[in-house]
Amino acid sequence: MDITALVSSLSTTFELGKLIVNERDTNKLSALQSELSEKIIDAQTQLSQVLGTVIDQQRHIPVLEERIRELEREAAEKERYVLDRVGNIGDFFVYRLRATAGEEGVDHFLCQPCFDAGKKGVLVRNHIHYLSCPLCNHGAYLEEIDPDTRTPSGFWS
Ligand SMILES: [Zn+2]
Repeated sequence: MDITALVSSLSTTFELGKLIVNERDTNKLSALQSELSEKIIDAQTQLSQVLGTVIDQQRHIPVLEERIRELEREAAEKERYVLDRVGNIGDFFVYRLRATAGEEGVDHFLCQPCFDAGKKGVLVRNHIHYLSCPLCNHGAYLEEIDPDTRTPSGFWS
């Protein structure tokens, strides 16, 4: 889209029109009319290109608006969670639902790699000491087990 070329072409057309109105020499008048016709055709071509570009851009606006709404929804969803480390073996990071006033939700953890990739994998407890993601199988043992009591030291209690 070249609006500058369109404006220039229209300006030249306008100037030629003024010259034609004031020209008395028939030969010069004929040449000016021919030039004016060419400039009008140029301006029409450029106007068509500008309109085509505008129409094309207008078709993209609803798509972009929907994408913005989608990104806003994703950002709002991410705000509901906070990165946290769970367990007492190594570093196993999860996203934990924030305790937000006025908002209800069952306490749960999301898989950190999946959530960072835009997917919501709620971690499940496959074993009393093991959490894993049903989407990517990312998981970890969380607690040292006391062999005498076979109980973890407090996580999930
Ligand atoms: Zn996952």
